[in-house]
Amino acid sequence: MKNLTPVEFWFVTGSQHLYGEAALKQVAENSKKVVEGLNGAGRLPLKIVFKKVLTTPEEIRQMCLDANTDAKCGGLVLWCHTFSPSKMWIGGLTQLRKPFLHLHTQFNADLPWSTIDMDFMNLNQAAHGDREAGFIHTRLRLNRKVVVGHWSDQEVQDRIGVWMRAAHAWADAQGARFARFGDNMRFVAVTDGDKVSAETKFGYAVNGYGVGDLVKVLNEVSDSAIGKLVAEYESTYDVAADLHKGGARHDSLRDGARQELGMRQFLEAGGFKGFTTTFEDLHGINQLPGLACQRLMADGYGFGGEGDWKTSALLRTMKVMANGLKGGTSFMEDYTYHLSSAGHLVLGSHMLEICPSIAEGKAGIEIHPLGIGGKADPVRLVFNAQTGPAINASIVDLGNRFRLIINEVDAITPPQPMPKLPVARAVWKCRPDFKTACASWIYGGGAHHTGYSYAVTVEHMRDSAEIANIELALIDADTRIADFQQNLRNNEVYYHLAPGLGRL
Ligand code: MN
Repeated sequence: MKNLTPVEFWFVTGSQHLYGEAALKQVAENSKKVVEGLNGAGRLPLKIVFKKVLTTPEEIRQMCLDANTDAKCGGLVLWCHTFSPSKMWIGGLTQLRKPFLHLHTQFNADLPWSTIDMDFMNLNQAAHGDREAGFIHTRLRLNRKVVVGHWSDQEVQDRIGVWMRAAHAWADAQGARFARFGDNMRFVAVTDGDKVSAETKFGYAVNGYGVGDLVKVLNEVSDSAIGKLVAEYESTYDVAADLHKGGARHDSLRDGARQELGMRQFLEAGGFKGFTTTFEDLHGINQLPGLACQRLMADGYGFGGEGDWKTSALLRTMKVMANGLKGGTSFMEDYTYHLSSAGHLVLGSHMLEICPSIAEGKAGIEIHPLGIGGKADPVRLVFNAQTGPAINASIVDLGNRFRLIINEVDAITPPQPMPKLPVARAVWKCRPDFKTACASWIYGGGAHHTGYSYAVTVEHMRDSAEIANIELALIDADTRIADFQQNLRNNEVYYHLAPGLGRL
């Protein structure tokens, strides 16, 4: 995946000096075994390293400060093998700027009923030690993920793994750069927003570039590089006959390759992790970039159409979380509906820019007219999307905060072929049902643009929202409109008051 740096996680065990050196040594050894067990299980996407058993306020503060400044540290996993008085943790945790997960586990799984004595009791104290820890986390209003169960439990490991992915995406966003070619689509509200708030909240920077800057790079792409990339297209996709070498429209495919190469070079040179385009600002570009955006998305770049930088950044976050998982992740738009009495469906698509990572089978490259933009016909990848459970995620700027809206959906095989539809598309059913989902989405102010994924789950998104400390509005199989609306109203109050409670 493009421009992605791995991180590792620090395993930190809380204790105190009350138990003597021998007990602390045992705590450290057991902690190492837990870490070895977690790494060795093969279910975590990233490495966890044992740091230390912390027993004093000074050590705790130093550990938190070290974590803040170590770019490789994606976050902390905290555990209290024994009791660790939590006033010791205030100085460190109030300084900690990295995400943390509170693992509520115990070294021993089964109680040794016939031999249990006070030595065992004094060593295996997470049952009350982690409650003391949980109190101070709550008292300090710290966002975190709490995972409960024995460390060998696969469900526990998987939940840690999900959080690691969210923390990795958070680390990826810190200092990330997003390029906007042109501005927002004129008059559109939901794709706009406060870039200063976003940078403060999420850590990524969004800046605009004149399309002329991009055109200059496009014009310098060599013919031989274009020829090579066209050959790659021919071997990877079903290329339409008129686009083949010698075909009447082969030059359009070469223009598409030029766009991909030029945009790729621009993004790599600038260290960007995502970008936006807009059909209203294409001066010097002869077709709206379709194929290029699709191929760049497939490499892990965030993308948003019509200047939609929030969705571009969200898509990058989702792609980082999905890295290495089965099932693709794409920019998406709720495009049109099938309102049949036999069941309502959504057809998701865009003018061009759907990521081929979600394609079912081999995609084709085709060329067709585009009704807007007043440019030459653009080349694009056309395909049906995979089937199966998926999510749609949208992030909106409500003026005083960001809200993440998620809908769980089930992608299906389109009921009939769509031979005349010249764009990639997905067809899905909404959970819990079309009417509830769409009404909730609209009450929540969810956008028409989304990040759409078969790999990223609600739990990934929930962990991501918890780390960023933003509102999450979930529409799933259990959603009822009245409750959903009431939650939105409650959240208006909560997010107004929360800064006063210590949460920014
Ligand atoms: Mn759009």
